[in-house]
Amino acid sequence: MIVPSVDSLWKIGEPMEIKFERFHLQSDLCSPLKGFEAISVPTEVRIDPLTKRRSRITAWGLPSKEKFDFSQMVEESKGCIFCPENVFLKTPHFLKEIVPDSRVTIGKAVGFPNLNPVGTYGSVVVLCQEHFLHLNQFSSEIYEEGLSVALEIIRRTIVFDPNARYWQISQNFLLPGGSSILHPHLQVIGDPVPTNEMEWLLNAGASYQQRNENLYWNDLVQIEQELGQRYINRFGKVHWFVAFAPIGFNEVCGSVEGHGSMSTLGQEEIAPLAKGIVSTLRYYYDKGLNSFNFSIYSISGEDSYQLLIRIISRTPIEPFCLNDWTSYEVLQSELTSNIIPEELCRDIRPYFV
Ligand SMILES: [Zn+2]
Repeated sequence: MIVPSVDSLWKIGEPMEIKFERFHLQSDLCSPLKGFEAISVPTEVRIDPLTKRRSRITAWGLPSKEKFDFSQMVEESKGCIFCPENVFLKTPHFLKEIVPDSRVTIGKAVGFPNLNPVGTYGSVVVLCQEHFLHLNQFSSEIYEEGLSVALEIIRRTIVFDPNARYWQISQNFLLPGGSSILHPHLQVIGDPVPTNEMEWLLNAGASYQQRNENLYWNDLVQIEQELGQRYINRFGKVHWFVAFAPIGFNEVCGSVEGHGSMSTLGQEEIAPLAKGIVSTLRYYYDKGLNSFNFSIYSISGEDSYQLLIRIISRTPIEPFCLNDWTSYEVLQSELTSNIIPEELCRDIRPYFV
């Protein structure tokens, strides 16, 4: 039996139209684990206050297994094209009109064009000299250097082609995250057209701003701070929170106050972005997770948009590991999460200090 209901959590004040709507679903069955007694298993369908996209949150998850032993995988794949002995010999050069020095290097991070791009300006940023890092071994310095290289690539490319307004700075880590190369690296992809996700954020944000005469992201941060259930912490100008309606497992979001594009960031924004990423990865490590994705959505010239990063965990790599994108996500466009956002916020807060 399924009993749908709707509620809205937002009751404090009235000036903003942000609503946290959800449907409580319930499945009743006789469980062999309880001597075939009747039990009820809840599911929540939450509606994102901005995009109106639905997410499905289950209260159960498959039990985690022991930490995976990466030693054989590392041994067999080390000396890859991103390793220090190869990266300056075997990776592509930028066009001289964009980067006269062939590649962009800051500290240990190295940026160069992707030999297999998926877009107009596809680059890779190798984050470190180490071929493999556990999630608790990524430092803020690694991400500060990597994001600084990404920023430099974006700035130089925009000078070359001002139409390249839409950028994604992403990381796919390990096979479940969609990366065939173990060596930690970022993808930096710029285009004159937005991705689907960027367009949804832009259209919904513009529509919200027109109706409310306020930036959605400022209103959201204010409400989340007042509610205190999903707001994690603030590092400098970056507000970290858990999404009400997550689009992936263990999703952590950051919104950078006063910026829509990576190209305008300085060290005072790069450092807190890096710190938030590292804090999230340390939490994932302690939870027995090892694979993740993040994306920074960088869009210039849009007043109704504010720079957003989303970080999600993927099913940990292990023998016969499960793909966490099922027919729900792939064919029903209904994204799922196996942790309740408010519980995630409570659990991860101690890591954001
Ligand atoms: Zn390597």
